[in-house]
Amino acid sequence: MVSRVIPVDEFDLVIFGGTGDLARRKILPALFRRFCAGQMEGKSRIIGAARSDHSTQEFRDFVTESIREFNGGTHCEDGTLESFLTHIDYVQIDALGTDGWAELAEKVEEKRIRAFYFSVAPSLFGALAERLHEHGMADSDTRIVVEKPFGRDLASAKVLNAGLAQHFDESQIYRIDHYLGKETVQNLMAVRFGNMLFEPLWNSQYIDHIQITVSETVGVGGRGEYYDKSGAMRDMVQNHLMQLLCLIAMEPPAKFDPAAVRDEKLKVIRALDPVPQDDLVRGQYLADGPEKESYLQDVGDTSSLTESYIAMKVKISNWRWAGTPFYMRTGKRLKARTSEIAVVFKETPHSIFGPESGNHRNILTIRLQPNEGMELGVTIKEPGPGGMRLVDVPLDMTFADALGPDAEDVPDAYERLIMDVIRGNQTLFMRGDEVEAAWAWADPMIEGWEDRGDKPKTYESGSTGPEEALMLMHRDGRRWREIRT
Ligand code: NAP
Repeated sequence: MVSRVIPVDEFDLVIFGGTGDLARRKILPALFRRFCAGQMEGKSRIIGAARSDHSTQEFRDFVTESIREFNGGTHCEDGTLESFLTHIDYVQIDALGTDGWAELAEKVEEKRIRAFYFSVAPSLFGALAERLHEHGMADSDTRIVVEKPFGRDLASAKVLNAGLAQHFDESQIYRIDHYLGKETVQNLMAVRFGNMLFEPLWNSQYIDHIQITVSETVGVGGRGEYYDKSGAMRDMVQNHLMQLLCLIAMEPPAKFDPAAVRDEKLKVIRALDPVPQDDLVRGQYLADGPEKESYLQDVGDTSSLTESYIAMKVKISNWRWAGTPFYMRTGKRLKARTSEIAVVFKETPHSIFGPESGNHRNILTIRLQPNEGMELGVTIKEPGPGGMRLVDVPLDMTFADALGPDAEDVPDAYERLIMDVIRGNQTLFMRGDEVEAAWAWADPMIEGWEDRGDKPKTYESGSTGPEEALMLMHRDGRRWREIRT
């Protein structure tokens, strides 16, 4: 199967924070891969912008290093990198100052798509919007891309939204959640709404429960100070897991367009019940030998009450999902690095094969990482003459197998999302009201445990999380799926 590359129109992309970690690891290599694939044509330009003093050549050297380190082994024709570098420029600029803005305004062209990527701390978003406006770069052709975290609660998210809304219409604002750029996430919509097979069964009558797991093996590492102010709820659940939940649970949109898809996602968030204290488990990882310190050691605060793990049972109050719980969990220093959604169907209402055939359920597993793909567990007869014994076998749709060598060409999330910005397609970006609704749901829970001074449970590094999280499922007669790569 050959993936089609449709070149985008010429554009100027300014990366505020062009010398930062995100630009180095994700944005610049993603742009190079799209260039290599032939999607960036003509005189498109990528302009790095930051306070440090760099010549264009120095910034190109930085870009070269970032691509060599983070390109993921993409093979391009000889000379592609040199050619890509001719599209790279740099402007020294301070988001909070006046220097550099006139130079930037001169560099970006009026008569083409202009995108400004705010790859800087959110506290600078408002100032950047203001400066772009002051220097005549905030007209209707301009798009801005903003990174997470989009606020730390509803109040701060509203401030950010209001700051951007002063100079930009919602249709110009692209709030990134890179989970939405993953191939599998879009395939989830294709599977749900492009097939007759699943949608009639996609409700509480046939689905017992749904599990969403995002587990990491790493601890907080060098991000301890930042992470400790955030925790798993703010860092992962309010955004990434929430987006996955929305796509799984939403009603079919009338069209696959930004307004229709985002309207349906918003309805899901608004239908979420508050999660009672008993349906919520928070944890902190313990040390793993002398090499791997505990969460409290990693963040340098032995009295920290921030969670590196969270598990919860979420209910959606609408007709489709009444009675079907969604169990979500995410954490650091767990057994394996994996992101998956498991849709666990109910057992057949009556087993004609008798009790000795065992209990069997169909499970649709959607894997986001590693090995993006889907797997449908189907019950069949165990081969052989031993009578009617049943066994569950997977129908595997790993993209790497299904697409063959072209699977390597599947763009990563940042590649897809940046190209969507240039194409002006907001479907895979979060709308302001979605983000606010997600905070409105998360805030009372966070305030609850902060007011009570709840202490997170501890869990062993390399485990599946705290014991109490297992109990969350056991008491409902269910169990978590194994965390495995
Ligand atoms: P970083 O490594 O600290 O880089 C910050 C960048 O912003 C640098 O290029 C810095 O360059 C520039 N900068 C700082 N103050 C500035 C100012 N006043 N005016 C203009 N430029 C300024 O941060 P990062 O990790 O790249 O993260 C950037 C944003 O992405 C943050 O909002 C972060 O939360 C988000 N994010 C990052 C990651 C990641 O993996 N790194 C993942 C998801 C989201 P100068 O110091 O030279 O100005």
